[in-house]
Amino acid sequence: MPEESVSAEHHVVIIGAGITGLSCAHSLLTAAPHLRVTLLESQPTTGGVIRTSPFAGLSHVDEGADAFLLRVPFAAQLAKDVGLGSHITSPSSGHASVWRNGLHRLPAGLLLGVPTQLSSLATSRLISPRGKLRAALDVVLPRTSTASDSIGTYMRRRFGNEVHNMLIDPLVGSIYAADTDHFSLEMVPQLSALASSSRSVLLTARGMPKPTAEVAATPIFGAPLTGMGALITATQEAVEKLGGTICLNAHVSSVEPASSDGKYSVHFTANGASETLTANHVVVCSPAKHSAGFFAESAPKVSQLLAQSSHASVVMVALAVPKESLPPTATGSGYLVPKPEQRFITAVSFASQKWAHLNTTESAILRVSLGRDGMPLHEHSDEELTSFVLADIKRHLLVDLEPTALRITRWKESFPQYRPHHVAHVEHLEKQLAEKMPQVLLAGASFRGIGVPSCVQQGVMSAQKIISSI
Ligand SMILES: Cc1cc2nc3c(=O)[nH]c(=O)nc-3n(C[C@H](O)[C@H](O)[C@H](O)COP(=O)(O)OP(=O)(O)OC[C@H]3O[C@@H](n4cnc5c(N)ncnc54)[C@H](O)[C@@H]3O)c2cc1C
Repeated sequence: MPEESVSAEHHVVIIGAGITGLSCAHSLLTAAPHLRVTLLESQPTTGGVIRTSPFAGLSHVDEGADAFLLRVPFAAQLAKDVGLGSHITSPSSGHASVWRNGLHRLPAGLLLGVPTQLSSLATSRLISPRGKLRAALDVVLPRTSTASDSIGTYMRRRFGNEVHNMLIDPLVGSIYAADTDHFSLEMVPQLSALASSSRSVLLTARGMPKPTAEVAATPIFGAPLTGMGALITATQEAVEKLGGTICLNAHVSSVEPASSDGKYSVHFTANGASETLTANHVVVCSPAKHSAGFFAESAPKVSQLLAQSSHASVVMVALAVPKESLPPTATGSGYLVPKPEQRFITAVSFASQKWAHLNTTESAILRVSLGRDGMPLHEHSDEELTSFVLADIKRHLLVDLEPTALRITRWKESFPQYRPHHVAHVEHLEKQLAEKMPQVLLAGASFRGIGVPSCVQQGVMSAQKIISSI
């Protein structure tokens, strides 16, 4: 719509200044500079679960996300739009492993852990001969229903428990901190496309067009050279430059229809004082469970549906160790630990092998993930978590590491868990909300995708919806 036709009085309040809220504000103000846009963020900083800080002599080491998918273009486009285009780098070391009594390289041709070539599975020592034979049955088994909408239920029937436990669950789990038996197939588009296309997953994969040489050579992940925090800082600066207002330490407590004009009152506390903003549109970009209270009085049904969301907690431990203390087997970008083998660690990233810009000191940097859905660990003390990490690494790599620096970040309730039939749940929720408060939108990791590109996409789409409705 033409800029002039958007009234300067039109006020959009965005709750939560994680990547979703920031990208929504950026998109709104880029398309309609005359809008009034206010972001309310309960924490003293923006970024939500994205944070980068100095560690072990390096100026920028991520505490949470360390990359975004490039083939889903929204995060890469945002990075370009906020001036980071020439500062994006990609991992230097590609291959990853799975630990099962030793490190085993992931077989070639996996799609989120799902085998697409029996030949590469056949040569992998990660899976037993019996497990391989069971996986090959996918080609002859009758069609499996996707009605349960559980990744585990579907994939176990197609490939058997071993391939599911050693490949599919660890790969999907490493992205979502999930237990795939209780996780929606529909919410993982690559897998649901394979499952819904035809009877056999392997035959469907064989029939898929092979990527061109150009596509195959294109990096899959990208990240700013100074860490993911740079995307947050650059987007925040762009929002402020475009005239947006970001209120930190502003904890929203409720959203309700205002007395007149179809507007909304957003109540919050800032520095101990109660305040209210009146908005024409509200975009809720805070996690579902934490947003349930906003609607406790104004839309109790919406509140109940939001409160049903579950979130898994994880702990990220960064370690710096002398490079020579890592064994020769510790190659590639890192390894995953499948559930049957898990004690505390779920994944280890050899960060200074994965990223050239972190490979500049005498130390090797490891980023270790602990905990997942069904394995909360954040209640343990720092000393306990440190001993869990060192004991697990000793078991995996057969070395006693002596870290020269160690950083523990607790990400409590940070990974939304998409339970089976999540899509229907969100549609129902949005319908209920639209009936009560049609100009209030929901966006972010809790709803339609957890990855940074998906969060940016949701922010952008909410902005587009608002602009097209003005
Ligand atoms: C450890 C970890 C590693 C990850 N790794 C990757 C990765 O490598 N690649 C990738 O693509 N994705 C990764 N992710 C996922 C991705 O980082 C997140 O899904 C995404 O950043 C979520 O963004 P968001 O804005 O939707 O939510 P959040 O970042 O959770 O932001 C929501 C904001 O709302 C605020 N808020 C909450 N309640 C209120 C209130 N009452 N009032 C005001 N504000 C409120 C919060 O303080 C927060 O700032 C990772 C996530 C974690 C936790």
